[in-house]
Formats: sequence, C-alpha cells, structure tokens
Amino acid sequence: MESAISARDRVGVQDFLLLENYNSEAAFIENLRRRYREGLIYTYIGSVLVSVNPYRELEIYSKQNMERHRGVNFYEISPHIFALANNSYRALRTERRDQCILLSGESGAGKTEASKKILQYYTHICPTRNNTHTIRERLLQSNPVLEAFGNAKTLRNDNSSRFGKYMDIQFDYKGAPIGGHILNYLLEKSRVAHQNHGERNFHIFYQLLEGGEEPLLKRLGLEKTNPQHYHYLVKGKCPRVSSINDKNGWKVVRNALTIIGFNEDEIQELMEIVAIVLHLGNIQFGEDEEGETHITTGPQLQYLSQVILFRSSFEGKNPLSLEQALSARDSLAKAIYGRAFTWLVQKLNQSLAFKVYYSSKCSSIIGLLDVYGFEVFQHNSFEQFCINYCNEKLQQLFVELTLKSEQEDYETEGVGWERVEYFNNKIICDLVEEKHKGIIAVLDEECLRRGDASDITFLEKLEDSLGGHAHFVTHKMANGKIRKAIGREEFRLVHYAGEVNYNVSGFLDKNNDLLCRHLKEVLCQSGNHIVSQCFHADELMDQRRPETAATEFKLSLAKLMEILMSKEPLYVRCIKPNDAKQPGGFDEVLVRHQVKYLGLMEYLRVRRAGFAYRRNFEVFLERYKSLCPDTWPNWRGTLPEGVATLVKHLNYKPEEYKLGRSKIFIRFPRTLFVTEDALEA
Ligand code: ATP
Ligand code: MG
Repeated sequence: MESAISARDRVGVQDFLLLENYNSEAAFIENLRRRYREGLIYTYIGSVLVSVNPYRELEIYSKQNMERHRGVNFYEISPHIFALANNSYRALRTERRDQCILLSGESGAGKTEASKKILQYYTHICPTRNNTHTIRERLLQSNPVLEAFGNAKTLRNDNSSRFGKYMDIQFDYKGAPIGGHILNYLLEKSRVAHQNHGERNFHIFYQLLEGGEEPLLKRLGLEKTNPQHYHYLVKGKCPRVSSINDKNGWKVVRNALTIIGFNEDEIQELMEIVAIVLHLGNIQFGEDEEGETHITTGPQLQYLSQVILFRSSFEGKNPLSLEQALSARDSLAKAIYGRAFTWLVQKLNQSLAFKVYYSSKCSSIIGLLDVYGFEVFQHNSFEQFCINYCNEKLQQLFVELTLKSEQEDYETEGVGWERVEYFNNKIICDLVEEKHKGIIAVLDEECLRRGDASDITFLEKLEDSLGGHAHFVTHKMANGKIRKAIGREEFRLVHYAGEVNYNVSGFLDKNNDLLCRHLKEVLCQSGNHIVSQCFHADELMDQRRPETAATEFKLSLAKLMEILMSKEPLYVRCIKPNDAKQPGGFDEVLVRHQVKYLGLMEYLRVRRAGFAYRRNFEVFLERYKSLCPDTWPNWRGTLPEGVATLVKHLNYKPEEYKLGRSKIFIRFPRTLFVTEDALEA
C-alpha cells in the first residue's frame, strides 16, 4: 500500500496553504507540475481556485460528479470547479448575498471552458420549478450562439473570445435558476475585415458556408462554399483548423437559435447579415481615366438589398479615392456586424429575462465574468490595448478586494499580523484612464482635433504628457538596447503581466469609429429588419458627437467594476501550461511568469499570514446562536460578549480564531465547516 507521504510526494498538496515551504516560488511551481502530471488540474489557495488547462478531455465533469459535489463542503473532496460553483451557491442560499465568479488568466488559459462548466453545474443541480427547464436550456444554449458570432481562432487560442462577457444567473427564493442577463463588452470587430496571418474571422462565417443548407445558401447568394472565394476570409490564410468542426458547429448554432426562441424569419435575417458582410468584402473598386472610383464587381451587388443606394454612397457626388472607398466598405462591414452582435445579445436577454409567472420574484444573483485574456502579439494594436486595459482593471479589483482590503481589515480591527508587500497595478490603470493626461484622454483629444492630427501626432502628444512615467516608454525616450526593440510608431506599456509594444497606426480611426452619413442613411432603410433596428433614423438626427470607442469602453468597465464590487467575489485563476496547446506539456518558464503576474505567491502569503474567514459579529451570532443555550433564542448582552460566549461553547481553540473590534476572524476553513455541519445536524 502506498504510504501517505509518498502519495503526497506524487500528487502534491491540494491547497497551497498546506505547502510547507510557502515562500518558495519553486515549491509552488513544483506542486502545480506534480498535480498536472497526475491529471489534477485544480488546486486551491484557500478559496481561490487555480486551474491549469489540460488541453485534453478529462472525465471529471460527468453528471455523477456534479451530484457528488452537491451540498458537500468545499474541503471535503479534492479541488474542482464544481466545488467552487457549489461554494458560491451555498453562500448565496445561506447568506443571501449576491455572488460573482471572476475568471482570469491569459488567452487560452481556460476561462471560457471553466465558465461553461459552472453554468452546466447550476443548470443541473439546482432545484427545478415548473417551467424553469426552458430557462435552463436557454441559459446553456446562449453560449454556442455567442461563441459562433464572438469567438475566433487566433494564434493563442483556437476558440478565443473576442468580446467580454458578464452574465448574471438569477435565482428565485428557493434557489432555482429563473433567468439570466448578459452584458457584452467591446467586440473586436476589426477582425471582420482583416485577420493576421494564421488567424480566422469569426466562426459563424465558416459554419454557415460549411454547414448551411443548400436552399439557404442559394438564397443568400453563397453557392460558392469555399472560404477562399471570400476576400474577408482569406487574409489569415487559415480557412480550416483541425481542432474545429465548422459543419457540426453550424448544426449546434442552428439548434441553439431555435431553442432560444428565434423564429425562422429571424434566423434567415441573421444569416443574411453574415452573407451581406461576405458580399461586401468581395466588392472591388477601380479608377477610371479621370481618377474617379467605380464599383467594378457586379454579381455580389445583386445580393445587397439597396444596390443603387450603395452605389451612390460609394460613388456619389463627392467621389472617394480608391483607398477611401475600400476603407468605407470595410467600415460598413464592421459596423453592420458589430451592431448585429449587440442586437443578438439583446435578443438573448429578452429570451433569458425571467418571467413573472415563473415565480414571485428574483431573489439573488450569481454573476460570471469571462473576458478576453491578456494578450501579446508581434503586432499589437488598438484592440490589444483595450483588451489588456480590461485585464489591468480586473487585476486591480483582485488587488483591492483581496490583497489590500484584507490587510486593511486586520489593521482597522486591531488584529495583530504580519504585513505582506504586493504590487499594486493602480498606477497602470491611472496611466490609461486618468482624466486629461491618461492615454485615453490624449487619444480622444487627438480624435477631436482637426487639421494635422494623425496617429503619429498622437504618439508625440503621449510622449509630451507621459514622458518619464515608469510604465510608459517610446523609441525616443528609450536608451540604447531597448530602443531597438521599440519601433518608431510604437509605445510600450509595462503591464502588470508583462511588456507590450503597441503600434499606433489606426488608433485614431478605430477610436473615432465613424461611419459616413450616406452609408448610415442606406442602412436605416434596409429591408433587413435587424439592420434597420440597429441603425435608427434618430441617430441621423442627433447632432451630438458619439463617445469614442475607448471612452465608451472605459465607462462600461467602470460600471462593470461597480457591479462586481457589490457582490461577494470568488476567483478562478487560469494558467496556460504551454504555447503549443499540447496535452501534458508544462513549460516552466511560461507557468512561472503567470504565477508571478496573477499575484498567486503574494496571495498565498497574505492568506498564510491571515485568516480564511471573517464575519461581522452580528452575522455570526445570528447564524449560529442556536448552537449555544446561552445565546439562544436571543443574546441580551453586547455583541462581542455574545460571540465570545458562543465560540467558547463551540470549543474553538485560541489559535483557531481572533476577535477584532466588529468582526470575528477564523483562521482555518475547517473550523467554520464543523460549525456549519453542527447547524444541519
Ligand atoms: P481567451 O482569452 O482567448 O478567450 P480562454 O481563457 O477563454 O481564452 P478557453 O477558450 O477556455 O480559453 O480554452 C482554450 C482551449 O483549451 C479550449 O478550447 C479547450 O480546447 C482547452 N481547454 C480549456 N480548459 C479545458 C478543460 N477544463 N478541459 C479540457 N480542455 C480545456
Ligand atoms: Mg475565452
């Protein structure tokens, strides 16, 4: 029989808090590696779940396994995403406090997969009420639809989320899921018209071409089903990917749309949009002898409903140059696709909205946050800038809610403990978003300025206002060695997760995100109802300048932070073990880098130095007073005395807890679990 010691040597510890050498990064990584080798991809640091992408199907997500986790305490069985999901559900039910689960980690680390497992868990184990099965199915089926339209193959991940997603799952007072609501963040719509080498457009284009039924494709003018025929699908030179089955993807999406409640007309119109984009991409322009631009492709146009109008927009009274015409065409395609995506999310929300007849009232919420992970490419543009800024904000939330607030709590409560140093990335968030001098403010200012404003003048303005900042460098400012590594059109940000060079080319256009008035007029009159709903005539009347893309993103992130702050957070920190997407591969350098920037060592130290749980005296006493004859049914003395009496009766050892000014701090989770179990007994 294998001894306990050698088993531990083999599979490591399941909670990093139990690691003897908890100050050693090497020991931390060795523990991750051992567990990963044994197929154990989950490990806790207290209540934070660390997950390492296995890049293969594991047999741990079955219905039986879900059942096994139902109602079991966090620490009774080995770490699992279901255990975390269950923990947050339990807290929701017992403490009646809204929860949110935050998934973080770089692109390809496994956030989206984890969020799907959590949703599957809830839709399977939560109690059912009349009619709620429809809502469960809809919640589940919203994923394949959003992924078809919002995910794409990138160099980092074959199914990379190209939009941010926050989803509320709403529960009634009995704990049955009764509805949902999705917030979407900044879709990377530039992908519609351009993909880098080795990348693809959004999945739906290939799914429709590969899987679409013949009569449908014929109606849409897409008889040619080879992606090579479509200009917007050939840029990345990567139409087929071995890990992706587009034909099957089509069936799944088609079925999901029906379950969610789209009728045939709506599905038809949605697919028409996909086709319009493909046809638009194939419009070519030519210049005549007088240098005027004309559309030279006929066949595609017959499928665009307002042919003549389109013609007049591109060739109208003020003829465009060839380059302008191409750029107007691409803006049009991006605008149509981008707005149709938002329309799709609204439509999903209508279908997920909880209906009064399901139950009296929605009582509590678990939010799931799954956004695009931090990413660094050879060439990084406005999109990467926004994505990485978003990741800074989430890291900031982690710092605020765990590292910082926990330590401040000990101080205000007068509980003695040892201070842990950590890196606070607020300085980088400020660098991006500060009023008047942050990067977004400078960018907006250049976008407003007429005359000679360009991407390069934007870069120069940045240098003027940010020169000397510890996290901002440009070619001009850098010295000797680094200078070579930063291009003349680039600025470098030293992010919490690493250095990234951003090429400024295209920043102004992408931030302005303007579509010429002519084209908007055409779209308002479109025969396709989705298009005409997406482009309101009111918009044409409105003289105000719309918010720039970056400012709109900044505002929506600020709102998101407010939502998250109002809930009790739980964290899943996802790690990508290798860049080759290979099962079993554990690249130590890569993993060490992520352990560092995810702040896992710092968090472990804070946890080791501190306490696993803290509760306000009032909440604690109210919940457990029935366990002690002196506090039941009501304690008549002061709150601290009541809590002291209660814990004495419960036999808490002095090393297990401390009483602060208004809170009790409990060092080990197991102490609380034993007390919880006593309640149920
Ligand atoms: P991005 O930021 O690019 O959206 P992500 O963190 O959401 O990345 P996922 O799409 O969840 O990454 O994972 C990438 C791929 O890794 C998945 O398509 C799947 O092949 C594999 N993968 C991730 N998690 C698991 C898991 N738990 N079991 C099996 N495979 C997984
Ligand atoms: Mg994802």
